[in-house]
Amino acid sequence: MKVLIPDIPKEGLDLELQESIESDAIVTPIIARLKIEKAGAEIIIKGDLEVEIKLQCSRCLKDFCKIMSIPIDVVYHPVEELKDEEMHEIKFEELDMDFYSGVELDLLNLINEQIILNLPMKPLCSDLCKGICVKCGEDLNESVCNCIRDDTDPRLEVLKKLLDKEA
Ligand SMILES: [Zn+2]
Ligand SMILES: [Zn+2]
Repeated sequence: MKVLIPDIPKEGLDLELQESIESDAIVTPIIARLKIEKAGAEIIIKGDLEVEIKLQCSRCLKDFCKIMSIPIDVVYHPVEELKDEEMHEIKFEELDMDFYSGVELDLLNLINEQIILNLPMKPLCSDLCKGICVKCGEDLNESVCNCIRDDTDPRLEVLKKLLDKEA
């Protein structure tokens, strides 16, 4: 989905898009509601997008689906500004910014980027996920095993080992 920059009217452009992306991770078409406005040479895009994605639980390693709602607030600058050293420094302090060149803006790029930026680092199928047994590999959400485990959080386990070394 591309937008021709000269075609963006003064009052802005309201768009509602549905994009299907060929990807194993993206389950449903992406729905995006965007408002595109021009401010001088800059283009401001605000709105939100919704997508269902497939993730792998970091505790039990099972795939699960999750609907993500992502707010969008991005400013596009003309790529020519990059050549201006001073501008370079100032602009990079803005968090959500990007560059465009020519007269076209590819909204699919924007959408892809925003999804990647918002993917959880440690996805969990549920806050209550019990994970798998570190000894026998049994999925503890489905059954119990007979391994003797101390119920220390595995993250604390790492810390404990470090502290033991210190002692
Ligand atoms: Zn899980
Ligand atoms: Zn076990």
